[in-house]
Amino acid sequence: MSEKMISQSDPVAPNETGGILVGYLEYGILFITGASDSGPHSTESPTLFVRDSEYCQDYLEQIETESCRKIRYVGEWHSHPSSAFNPSQTDIKSLESIARQDHYAVDEAVSIILSKDKELGVTIHQKDGSFKLLATVIVPRSYAETNQMLDALSPPEKKEERTL
Ligand SMILES: [Zn+2]
Repeated sequence: MSEKMISQSDPVAPNETGGILVGYLEYGILFITGASDSGPHSTESPTLFVRDSEYCQDYLEQIETESCRKIRYVGEWHSHPSSAFNPSQTDIKSLESIARQDHYAVDEAVSIILSKDKELGVTIHQKDGSFKLLATVIVPRSYAETNQMLDALSPPEKKEERTL
Protein backbone atom coordinates (compact mmCIF):
# COMPACT_ATOMS: atom_id res chain seq x y z
CA MET A 1 0.00 0.00 0.00
CA SER A 2 2.88 2.40 0.70
CA GLU A 3 4.15 1.56 -2.80
CA LYS A 4 0.74 2.52 -4.12
CA MET A 5 0.85 5.85 -2.32
CA ILE A 6 4.32 6.52 -3.73
CA SER A 7 3.22 5.63 -7.25
CA GLN A 8 0.24 7.98 -6.89
CA SER A 9 2.21 10.89 -5.49
CA ASP A 10 5.29 10.83 -7.73
CA PRO A 11 3.63 11.86 -11.01
CA VAL A 12 1.82 14.83 -9.46
CA ALA A 13 4.72 16.19 -7.32
CA PRO A 14 5.15 18.94 -6.19
CA ASN A 15 1.37 18.89 -5.91
CA GLU A 16 -0.14 17.08 -2.96
CA THR A 17 -2.32 14.07 -3.53
CA GLY A 18 -3.97 11.52 -1.29
CA GLY A 19 -7.11 9.57 -0.56
CA ILE A 20 -8.81 7.50 2.08
CA LEU A 21 -7.43 4.62 4.13
CA VAL A 22 -9.32 1.42 4.81
CA GLY A 23 -8.58 -1.40 7.21
CA TYR A 24 -9.65 -3.19 10.36
CA LEU A 25 -8.72 -3.61 13.99
CA GLU A 26 -7.70 -7.05 15.25
CA TYR A 27 -5.61 -8.15 18.26
CA GLY A 28 -5.43 -4.46 19.16
CA ILE A 29 -3.50 -3.79 15.98
CA LEU A 30 -4.87 -1.59 13.27
CA PHE A 31 -4.30 -3.20 9.90
CA ILE A 32 -4.42 -0.70 7.09
CA THR A 33 -5.17 -2.78 4.05
CA GLY A 34 -5.80 -0.24 1.35
CA ALA A 35 -5.47 3.34 0.20
CA SER A 36 -7.58 4.95 -2.48
CA ASP A 37 -6.27 7.42 -4.98
CA SER A 38 -7.64 10.95 -5.01
CA GLY A 39 -10.21 10.56 -7.78
CA PRO A 40 -10.79 12.49 -10.99
CA HIS A 41 -12.40 15.54 -9.33
CA SER A 42 -9.79 16.16 -6.66
CA THR A 43 -7.98 19.46 -6.10
CA GLU A 44 -4.21 19.02 -6.05
CA SER A 45 -1.75 21.86 -5.51
CA PRO A 46 1.58 22.21 -3.64
CA THR A 47 -0.25 23.55 -0.57
CA LEU A 48 -3.74 22.10 -0.76
CA PHE A 49 -5.28 18.74 -1.40
CA VAL A 50 -9.00 18.01 -1.47
CA ARG A 51 -9.96 14.51 -2.49
CA ASP A 52 -12.89 13.59 -4.75
CA SER A 53 -15.41 12.66 -2.04
CA GLU A 54 -17.85 10.85 -4.29
CA TYR A 55 -15.09 8.76 -5.85
CA CYS A 56 -13.65 7.84 -2.43
CA GLN A 57 -17.12 6.96 -1.13
CA ASP A 58 -17.59 4.57 -4.06
CA TYR A 59 -14.16 3.03 -3.35
CA LEU A 60 -15.13 2.53 0.31
CA GLU A 61 -18.53 1.05 -0.45
CA GLN A 62 -17.03 -1.44 -2.87
CA ILE A 63 -14.45 -2.61 -0.32
CA GLU A 64 -17.02 -2.79 2.49
CA THR A 65 -19.25 -4.95 0.30
CA GLU A 66 -16.47 -7.25 -0.89
CA SER A 67 -15.19 -7.77 2.66
CA CYS A 68 -18.65 -8.24 4.24
CA ARG A 69 -18.02 -4.98 6.12
CA LYS A 70 -14.88 -6.25 7.81
CA ILE A 71 -12.82 -3.58 6.09
CA ARG A 72 -13.98 -0.09 7.06
CA TYR A 73 -12.96 3.50 6.67
CA VAL A 74 -10.08 4.29 9.03
CA GLY A 75 -8.73 7.65 7.88
CA GLU A 76 -6.90 9.68 5.29
CA TRP A 77 -3.53 9.79 3.58
CA HIS A 78 -1.86 12.55 1.60
CA SER A 79 1.53 13.47 0.27
CA HIS A 80 3.63 16.46 1.23
CA PRO A 81 5.90 18.15 -1.33
CA SER A 82 8.41 18.79 1.49
CA SER A 83 10.37 16.43 3.72
CA ALA A 84 7.85 17.06 6.54
CA PHE A 85 5.90 13.94 7.39
CA ASN A 86 4.26 15.41 10.48
CA PRO A 87 0.71 16.80 10.13
CA SER A 88 0.27 20.53 9.52
CA GLN A 89 -2.17 22.61 11.58
CA THR A 90 -4.65 22.28 8.72
CA ASP A 91 -4.18 18.51 8.70
CA ILE A 92 -4.73 18.30 12.48
CA LYS A 93 -7.96 20.30 12.25
CA SER A 94 -9.27 18.25 9.37
CA LEU A 95 -8.53 14.90 11.09
CA GLU A 96 -10.12 16.19 14.31
CA SER A 97 -13.30 17.04 12.43
CA ILE A 98 -13.35 13.57 10.83
CA ALA A 99 -13.03 11.97 14.30
CA ARG A 100 -15.95 14.15 15.48
CA GLN A 101 -18.33 13.64 12.59
CA ASP A 102 -20.81 10.83 13.05
CA HIS A 103 -21.08 9.86 9.41
CA TYR A 104 -17.46 8.68 9.27
CA ALA A 105 -18.28 6.05 11.92
CA VAL A 106 -14.84 6.24 13.54
CA ASP A 107 -13.90 7.41 17.03
CA GLU A 108 -10.33 8.06 15.97
CA ALA A 109 -9.04 9.03 12.55
CA VAL A 110 -5.77 7.68 11.22
CA SER A 111 -3.58 9.92 9.08
CA ILE A 112 -0.66 8.84 6.94
CA ILE A 113 1.53 11.51 5.44
CA LEU A 114 4.04 10.60 2.78
CA SER A 115 6.94 13.04 2.57
CA LYS A 116 8.94 13.73 -0.56
CA ASP A 117 11.71 11.56 0.96
CA LYS A 118 9.19 8.66 1.08
CA GLU A 119 8.99 8.71 4.84
CA LEU A 120 5.62 7.89 6.37
CA GLY A 121 4.20 9.84 9.30
CA VAL A 122 1.40 7.84 10.90
CA THR A 123 -0.75 9.67 13.43
CA ILE A 124 -4.03 8.88 15.15
CA HIS A 125 -6.36 11.76 15.91
CA GLN A 126 -8.98 11.99 18.66
CA LYS A 127 -12.21 13.98 18.82
CA ASP A 128 -10.64 16.54 21.15
CA GLY A 129 -7.94 17.40 18.61
CA SER A 130 -5.12 15.55 20.36
CA PHE A 131 -3.07 13.08 18.37
CA LYS A 132 -0.35 10.49 18.77
CA LEU A 133 2.43 9.40 16.48
CA LEU A 134 2.21 5.64 16.03
CA ALA A 135 4.22 2.75 14.77
CA THR A 136 1.69 0.85 12.70
CA VAL A 137 1.75 -2.41 10.80
CA ILE A 138 1.16 -1.47 7.20
CA VAL A 139 0.27 -4.48 5.10
CA PRO A 140 0.90 -3.88 1.41
CA ARG A 141 -1.45 -6.61 0.25
CA SER A 142 -5.10 -7.12 -0.44
CA TYR A 143 -7.33 -7.94 2.50
CA ALA A 144 -7.76 -11.50 1.23
CA GLU A 145 -4.03 -12.10 1.53
CA THR A 146 -4.01 -10.21 4.80
CA ASN A 147 -6.38 -12.70 6.38
CA GLN A 148 -3.95 -15.52 5.66
CA MET A 149 -1.16 -13.48 7.16
CA LEU A 150 -2.93 -13.11 10.49
CA ASP A 151 -1.92 -16.59 11.63
CA ALA A 152 1.70 -15.72 11.03
CA LEU A 153 1.30 -12.68 13.24
CA SER A 154 0.28 -14.63 16.34
CA PRO A 155 1.18 -13.70 19.03
CA PRO A 156 0.54 -10.14 17.89
CA GLU A 157 3.39 -7.71 17.87
CA LYS A 158 3.07 -5.09 20.51
CA LYS A 159 1.98 -1.74 19.18
CA GLU A 160 4.35 1.02 20.14
CA GLU A 161 2.91 4.40 20.88
CA ARG A 162 4.45 7.61 21.92
CA THR A 163 2.99 10.99 22.56
CA LEU A 164 4.30 13.94 20.61
ZN1 LIG B 1 -0.60 17.93 5.01
